[in-house]
Amino acid sequence: MIIVLKKTATPQELEYICQKVRELGLTPQVSRGIERTVIGVIGDEEKLQVQPLEAFPGVEHVMAILKPYKLASRDYRAENTEFDMEHGVKVGGKRIVVMAGPCSVENYDMLLDLAKSVKKAGATFLRGGAFKPRTSPYSFQGLGEDGLKYLRQAADETGMLVCTEVMDTRQVDLVCKYADMLQIGARNMQNFDLLKECGISKKPVLLKRGLSATVKDLLMSAEYLLSKGNFKVMLCERGIRTFETATRNTLDLNAIPVIKKETHLPVLVDPSHGTGYRDFVAPMAMAGIAAGCDGLMVEVHQCPEEAKSDGEQSLLPKQFDELMKKSRAIAQAIGRDI
Ligand code: PEP
Ligand code: MN
Repeated sequence: MIIVLKKTATPQELEYICQKVRELGLTPQVSRGIERTVIGVIGDEEKLQVQPLEAFPGVEHVMAILKPYKLASRDYRAENTEFDMEHGVKVGGKRIVVMAGPCSVENYDMLLDLAKSVKKAGATFLRGGAFKPRTSPYSFQGLGEDGLKYLRQAADETGMLVCTEVMDTRQVDLVCKYADMLQIGARNMQNFDLLKECGISKKPVLLKRGLSATVKDLLMSAEYLLSKGNFKVMLCERGIRTFETATRNTLDLNAIPVIKKETHLPVLVDPSHGTGYRDFVAPMAMAGIAAGCDGLMVEVHQCPEEAKSDGEQSLLPKQFDELMKKSRAIAQAIGRDI
C-alpha cells in the first residue's frame, strides 16, 4: 500500500500519518520524490482497513501496489534511485560506474598493481573476492580477512572504492568493516537471511541475479533489502543458465530495459560472468551500455592463465583500458558519461 501525499502536505502532517501507521504495528517508508512524497506501508495491510487514511490531512490518495515487489517498484518511487559514495562517486546517476579487478584477491602486490591500472583506465570501484563461492570445495576459497585487508589497502592507496562478496550472515560485520559495497553473489540471491542482514547493515549492496532467477525473483530479493530500510541497492545482470553452451552463461540484456521499467533501482552489467570468455567481454560490456545499464563490472588479471579463478574471462589490463576508451563513445552517444 502507498499513501500519496498532497504537494502541500506539511512535515507535521507527514509525521502524523507515519505515527498512525506505526501505531497499527506497520512500518512506514517515506520516499521524497521531485513530483510527490509517498509513504510505503510495510506489513499486514489488512490492519490499514481500520483507519480512514484518505481522510487524514495532507493525504491525496491511498493506493494498493499490485506488483509483488512494493518498495522496489516504480509505483513507490517514480524517479531513479541515486546514491552518493566516497570520492564523489554517484551510483545511478548520469555517469556509468565501473568496477574492475580480479575475480579473487590472490596477494597484495597483484591487487595493488591491478588497482593502479584499472583506476587509470577509469574504474572507480576495485572488485575482488576474498570469500569465494566455488563449485568445488577443493578449489581456491579466497584469502578471507587477509583478502579484505588487501582490498581496503589497495583501494585507499589508489583512491578507489571496494566492492566485495559476502557469502554468509556470519561474515556481514567483518565485510562491512572493509568494504564500501557488499556484493551478494548469484548463488546467494535467495539467501533470505543474508539479504535481511545486509539490509540491516545499511551498507550499499550489489545484488547479483541468480543463475536461474527471473527478473521478478531478483526484484523480490531486492525487496528484502529495501524492507529493512536499505535503499542503497544496485542490481546486477550477470547471465543466466540457458541451453546455450557456446558461452558460460547467457547475458540477458533484455533484463536491462525490463528492470529499468519495473524498478527505480540502478542496474549494472557483468559481461565477464555473463559470457565466460575474454573475447566476448568487451562487445557485451558495450551492448550493456547501449541497453541502458548504470554500471559495469569487469574481471581483470595481469596473468589470466595463472589466475586462481575465472582466468578465461579476465581481461588483460591493456584490454580493459581499450574497452574503457571505446565505451566512452557509446556512453556519450546515449547521453551518458563513463
Ligand atoms: C564474482 O563476481 O566473482 C562471482 C562469483 O559472481 P557471481 O556470483 O555472479 O557468479
Ligand atoms: Mn569471478
